[in-house]
Amino acid sequence: MGICDENDRYSHNDWLVIMINVKSIHELDVKGKKVLCRFDFNVPIKEGVIEDDRRLREALPTIQYLIEKGAKIIMTSHLGRPKGKRTKELTLLPVAKKLSELLGKEVKFVDEVVGDKVTREVEGLGNGELLLLENVRFHPGEEANDPEFAGELASPASVYVNDAFGTAHRKHTSTYGVAKIIKEKAAGFLMEKEIKNLSKLRENPLSPFTLILGGAKLKTKIPVIKDLASLVDNLLVGGGMAFSFLYKKGIDVGDSLLDESLFDDIDNLFPIIRDNDVNLLMPLDVVIAKEIKEGVENKVVPVESIPEGWKGVDIGPITIEEFRRVIIESKTLFWNGPMGVFEIHPFDKGTREIAISIGEATKNGAITVVGGGDTDKAIEESGVELTHLSTGGGASLKFLSGEEMPAISVLGEGV
Ligand code: ADP
Ligand code: MG
Repeated sequence: MGICDENDRYSHNDWLVIMINVKSIHELDVKGKKVLCRFDFNVPIKEGVIEDDRRLREALPTIQYLIEKGAKIIMTSHLGRPKGKRTKELTLLPVAKKLSELLGKEVKFVDEVVGDKVTREVEGLGNGELLLLENVRFHPGEEANDPEFAGELASPASVYVNDAFGTAHRKHTSTYGVAKIIKEKAAGFLMEKEIKNLSKLRENPLSPFTLILGGAKLKTKIPVIKDLASLVDNLLVGGGMAFSFLYKKGIDVGDSLLDESLFDDIDNLFPIIRDNDVNLLMPLDVVIAKEIKEGVENKVVPVESIPEGWKGVDIGPITIEEFRRVIIESKTLFWNGPMGVFEIHPFDKGTREIAISIGEATKNGAITVVGGGDTDKAIEESGVELTHLSTGGGASLKFLSGEEMPAISVLGEGV
């Protein structure tokens, strides 16, 4: 069995062969057992208040299943980047409270990651009861994938479940080290949903397949273009990253965002795009401003006419229309990265309009998938329907780039 069957497998991806061995949580016997569960509870928290609880809500099916089956549930997650040190603002206590509220059931919290206090709390767990451990990244052994720490974290549990897709590209103790130790293990429901939906983009995607990329972090997007080039029909490039592309095409982009360190990579990308017959669409017009802040003067100009001292902050109306035309005719779509500085009104227009067009494509029957931290926020705000909104930013890009995901493949090892 497993979460993927033979027909799901990507022949060009060796590590996915391992995935055939990854168990689904249904295949585990958990009654009365201590189950260590890795979740991605990395949510935005300001002054103790959770600003967006989507990642918690997405974890509920796995938690509820384990409660129903009478497991003793030990939950672990990271929050932010405390770099191995206890950091007051990054405690998971607000998450325990919010989870209690969402589940309508007590979630115990222990302010340690491992140690005597944790052992005592775990011993006190009854069937179907829940304990959340403190932020696993408070421990220096987490990101180092330290074997001694892995032994300690794994010691109370006889079963391991990983439902943290957002950190599946990380080889850390709680995502990898413990899975090497605990033999009885499976992927949670969210992990399974993410893998299945993202796989739809790589495994015989329906044509036309359109890849829409934007945002600022060009580095993480180049491998996706390279790896999907043979499958993709259209590549729409917007947001900050478009200016590096335009610049390399000989266009003077004024003071717009440029990532010079990736110019060589872009040079290498153009022939790949051409050889795979990918239709590349870049902005034709842009909204420009002198500064990126609320209330500044702005105007729309053709991309060739950005004056010195001005920068592109959003795609213009002609581009929105051009992109829309391609999007609504697509049968498969993946979007990562906003089309402009969407945090600032009115520079959110391009991103909003693209979200709406993608919603329309979903209604027309297309498979539409969106990934990325900031893009995710933009989609939530627009309220449009998608086939799948990934909880993993970096992780979804890594997955689509065909890179090995250590936390997933380890679940299929030694079983
Ligand atoms: P994601 O998190 O969805 O993967 P990125 O982190 O790569 O996306 O990029 C998101 C950021 O890109 C946003 O903060 C947005 O303001 C910024 N951005 C988008 N367009 C531009 C632009 N034209 N100039 C500068 N920054 C931009
Ligand atoms: Mg981001």
